[in-house]
Amino acid sequence: MPYPGAMQGELLRHLTKKRATVLYPFEKLELAEAYRGRWSHNMAKCTGCGLCAKDCPSEAIQLVETNITPGGRYPVCYLGRCMFCAQCEDTCPTGAIQLTNEYELADYQKRIIDSAEPEGFRYEKSK
Ligand code: SF4
Ligand code: SF4
Repeated sequence: MPYPGAMQGELLRHLTKKRATVLYPFEKLELAEAYRGRWSHNMAKCTGCGLCAKDCPSEAIQLVETNITPGGRYPVCYLGRCMFCAQCEDTCPTGAIQLTNEYELADYQKRIIDSAEPEGFRYEKSK
């Protein structure tokens, strides 16, 4: 058990120092450029090849049928399974997948946090 004054030196030393934490959510940290946050998918670049789903180590990507891509399918990411490794971003031959710097991913609606859906599309089935 440390003696009662053991912390005083430490406290005094930190009185003049800038604080190391931010007042989240009022203040936010500046993220690194390569930060790996919310998954995003650009339908215009996607060919529907399915390589992203094949390479995902946590099976977070499911291919959904569509007539928009040449391959007749496009990927949906289940964020609850995603570990933000960015393997899919590296794998995608057309650069259609990007991990953004968005890190506030909590939501009450699972459908919203689950997917990267094209405009007007509603994917109701959840895992
Ligand atoms: S970031 Fe990693 S875990 Fe998440 S969908 Fe891509 S490959 Fe899968
Ligand atoms: S790897 Fe890229 S192009 Fe292929 S299905 Fe995935 S997002 Fe689309």
